[in-house]
Amino acid sequence: MDEKQHTFISKASLASPYFPTWCPGCGNFGVWTAFKNALTELQLPEEDVVIVYGVGCSGNMADFNRVYGFHALHGRAIANAVAIKMSNHRLKVIVVAGDGDTYGEGLNHFISACRGNHDITILVHDNQVYGLTTGQAAPTTEHGQKTKSTPTGAPEQAINPLGLGLTADATFLARGFSGDIRHLTQLIKAAIQHEGLSLVDMFQPCFTFNHHNTYAYFKERIYDLEKEGHNPTDKFSAWKKTHELNRLPIGIFYQEEGRVPMHKNFPQLDKGPLVNQSIAQINLSPILSKLS
Ligand code: SF4
Repeated sequence: MDEKQHTFISKASLASPYFPTWCPGCGNFGVWTAFKNALTELQLPEEDVVIVYGVGCSGNMADFNRVYGFHALHGRAIANAVAIKMSNHRLKVIVVAGDGDTYGEGLNHFISACRGNHDITILVHDNQVYGLTTGQAAPTTEHGQKTKSTPTGAPEQAINPLGLGLTADATFLARGFSGDIRHLTQLIKAAIQHEGLSLVDMFQPCFTFNHHNTYAYFKERIYDLEKEGHNPTDKFSAWKKTHELNRLPIGIFYQEEGRVPMHKNFPQLDKGPLVNQSIAQINLSPILSKLS
């Protein structure tokens, strides 16, 4: 790749004329800063990156980043990201979505993307409620937590995103915290650089509608996996870490190198991305005759 022909993502190139409408104190600000740090530090060419946004407070980031992107339907961000990757596998495809979008409406897409090891990065703003719709219980809301839609306490157990990803055979699983921007930046960079499915679940306090999972709540419980010597290639150890509830680990839980990502299973793509291939050379007659 000739570097002279490309514009690399920078803080200046990312700048949008719109400033976030998020509530003051929202954890989305920390995630946004870490995300911009990561894109800038990786020095990726603008034309090689596409962001797919879900619906929610997090998805509103679509207006605040000046970078190629697509604002998907609720629960369909991962499905769109997979389609983009298969159409043009040279792109870095990154999903920015919330916990409701990813683990609720989009749960089937999340599991399928993990199983297929699609080479996309999924960044989940996990604030444990539906923030944009003013504070209903989400799939990650703790059992017994009172919210607008569960006034006597959430009756279900919360989804465990990293445990779920591990059982679905994802090859990169991490958790960050929006209150630790430098650490989160490094996680996002590692996820984008990973070949295969990568998930960074990010604790992101919803200052306005979740008065349980606050900055203080996380700061009391969070610890750094790397500092405690966790080996991210040890799947059994990762499994145990995903089930810690009293102390909350952040960092890379699990990473498996070398598993073939989905798009490399298709020899048709050896000739280059589908978007660059002409269908004029392809004889569809035998297939169409079978369908007629
Ligand atoms: Fe952030 Fe919650 Fe406000 Fe949404 S409702 S912008 S998640 S604080």
